[in-house]
Amino acid sequence: MSLKNKNDVIVIGAGAAGLMCALTAGQRGRSVLLLDHASAVGKKIIISGGGRCNFTNRNVKAEHFISQNPHFCKSALSRFGPEEFIALVERYKIRYFEKTLGQLFCTGRSREILNMLLEECRVGQIQIKTNCTVKGIAKSDCFNLDTSLGDLRCASLVIATGGLSYAKIGASDFGYKCATQFGLKILPRRPGLVSLTLGGPDLKRFEGLSGVAAEVSVSCNGKTFHEAMLITHKGLSGPAILQISNYWHPGDKITINLLPHLNLGETIAAWRKHRPAATLKTLLAEHLSKRLAQRGLTFITDNKAVNQYNQQEILSIAQHFHQWRLIPSGTTGYRVAEVTTGGVDTRGLSSKSFEATDVPGLYFIGEVLDVTGWLGGYNFQWAWSSGYCAGLTV
Ligand SMILES: Cc1cc2nc3c(=O)[nH]c(=O)nc-3n(C[C@H](O)[C@H](O)[C@H](O)COP(=O)(O)OP(=O)(O)OC[C@H]3O[C@@H](n4cnc5c(N)ncnc54)[C@H](O)[C@@H]3O)c2cc1C
Repeated sequence: MSLKNKNDVIVIGAGAAGLMCALTAGQRGRSVLLLDHASAVGKKIIISGGGRCNFTNRNVKAEHFISQNPHFCKSALSRFGPEEFIALVERYKIRYFEKTLGQLFCTGRSREILNMLLEECRVGQIQIKTNCTVKGIAKSDCFNLDTSLGDLRCASLVIATGGLSYAKIGASDFGYKCATQFGLKILPRRPGLVSLTLGGPDLKRFEGLSGVAAEVSVSCNGKTFHEAMLITHKGLSGPAILQISNYWHPGDKITINLLPHLNLGETIAAWRKHRPAATLKTLLAEHLSKRLAQRGLTFITDNKAVNQYNQQEILSIAQHFHQWRLIPSGTTGYRVAEVTTGGVDTRGLSSKSFEATDVPGLYFIGEVLDVTGWLGGYNFQWAWSSGYCAGLTV
């Protein structure tokens, strides 16, 4: 098919949101050109969820998203929520399973989700062009794009270029630059859903424990997540840490409860009664990895038979294991972060159509926006929901 110079709609960015927007608009009869500068479309979909794409979550609610405009996501999530995406997945007979906390993953490979979206694009007669660079955008009565494929024009322009994470598979700051060009505000961005690094004495505390995991509660800035934590050679990782990283800012303290399932003070009192001669380390190791139990103890007290601790010591041991306070030195950065928090300020857009209030015909969808989901399928759901709603209007 030869490339048309003028289309109703051009979508820049053929990731989750761009594909969903393009197929929705195309199936309404709009002529749509979908451009991407990468060599292939949907690369993040392919690598997501460890190759199994956690494509949505059954329990999506507005409170699972972080944004300076917390009500913005509600309209799109209610118009195209998990049920609608699951119905599409089931129509394509893609097998899936619920892993935990409502998270839905493909039983097979992520590729099945991408193939489904591409088939829907084919139905909508979407033209897809990869390896296409957009060098400049100008607006007159329509949008004029200077691209590596020549000059292109459209009435509606959708920016779906995602965030800054994983530049190696195509992430760029294009969307933010474009927003700035057209007068939209960019809110501060940080790597999100990312491991936290430790420095100095905090890193020393965990030295030699790399690979040790624990079921913990982690808190920061009034938010608490109860999931697994993994100690790495640089700091802390695992779902609990990735979740809290969305709420952490440089300099903030995080508090880790290493034994969230029990009240250690009361448990030690019970041990003193029923197992007085057992050492505290042995008893703690029934609830925590042996190495972590031992390391935790070395910072506060000697390992003794449990009946040899006085009340004051028991209180401080309990406090230590329930409220381990650390100030991370940073994150492992955009290179490995699953998302970018912050981004295009949604206060300049319609929550129904995603059109810029002051620039008719210009739309922003997906991760480029200041809407960031928790770990667990929420970010893809945001891409599907925002892409669908814009696709209904463009
Ligand atoms: C390793 C990893 C695993 C993840 N797993 C999950 C998961 O299981 N579940 C979940 O919900 N979320 C997951 N996420 C997050 C999720 O992938 C993103 O939130 C989602 O893909 C965002 O969709 P998007 O369409 O806005 O952006 P993207 O999917 O990032 O798509 C943006 C597209 O724009 C293109 N682009 C960028 N700049 C330009 C430019 N200048 N010109 C042209 N094209 C451009 C890119 O090549 C890309 O194709 C994961 C992320 C990563 C990095």
